[in-house]
Amino acid sequence: MSAQILDGKAFAATIRAKVADHVSRLMADHDIQPGLAVVLVGEDPASEVYVRNKGIATRECGMKSVEHKLPAETSAEDLYALIDSLNADPSIHGILVQFPVPDHLSERDIVARIDPAKDVDGLSVVNAGLLASGQQAMASCTPLGCLMLLRDTLGDLSGKDAVIIGRSNLVGKPMAQLLLRDSCTVTIAHSRTKDLAETVRRADIVVAAVGRPQMVPGDWIKPGATVIDVGINRIPAPEKGEGKTRLVGDVDFDSAKEVAGHITPVPGGVGPLTIACLLANTVTAACRINGLDEPE
Ligand code: NDP
Repeated sequence: MSAQILDGKAFAATIRAKVADHVSRLMADHDIQPGLAVVLVGEDPASEVYVRNKGIATRECGMKSVEHKLPAETSAEDLYALIDSLNADPSIHGILVQFPVPDHLSERDIVARIDPAKDVDGLSVVNAGLLASGQQAMASCTPLGCLMLLRDTLGDLSGKDAVIIGRSNLVGKPMAQLLLRDSCTVTIAHSRTKDLAETVRRADIVVAAVGRPQMVPGDWIKPGATVIDVGINRIPAPEKGEGKTRLVGDVDFDSAKEVAGHITPVPGGVGPLTIACLLANTVTAACRINGLDEPE
């Protein structure tokens, strides 16, 4: 029997609707409009599209959206001065600096400059440490989206065997912490893992966050497992015409869907959840900063 395909686009829309609802209540009851500031340094075309989409989604939820576009040659001092002013601005609850930044700037130092309470990307060592020690943290948006989708699909995750392939600070590690917090038995696999196939075969939940096209075949998947494919890889698609490409995940979708119980497609699975969770994190930050109950 074929797996149920998890519709990330539809699920992201439900997250955004809940965010919009919470925003209107914050405005009506407390006169607080959550605000998200996005900073872009340089003119990377892909980043410009991401920033524009984030701005549109933010405004559509009724939040304040501020975009700062700085020239590529902006000095670290000038960028930090802007971050400091956003840290101090009471109308801004979330700050995101779009990566990558030009080489003369340090992503680590930029993240460290953002007030952890406004670090809605959840990338700072403070938020990573809070999450790892089981305290209230701002969690990285993509793994948070995966967790919300898993809860929505499976309900209680307690006791499930979860295997995460990939150990990046952006996806793999925070995913592991979030699933551990939900009482999964968590294994983190990576490029040095011995017998990855056997490791993955044990999993009730597989999260693939590697960046290698279709590396997880269907015969690695335990029958009925839930497969979350975070990977986004562009491969040649000669069937669409010369020089054409298409997006695929880290999982071989066609073979995996014959075995899995649930699976996310690429595109249209995890991808849309990231911006939705960025909006959700901004509302959460606005509530915490103002000492109010936060969304569930
Ligand atoms: P990184 O390159 O930072 O990390 C990749 C991880 O995969 C590393 O931990 C690496 O192991 C591991 N890995 C590499 N090769 C193998 C292998 N052969 N077997 C097992 N593990 C391996 O990537 P990210 O975590 O940033 O991103 C992963 C993927 O997710 C990418 O395709 C990216 O585009 C996508 N992505 C999608 C997002 C979205 O949907 N919105 C958001 C963020 C990422 P080691 O540490 O040992 O080198």
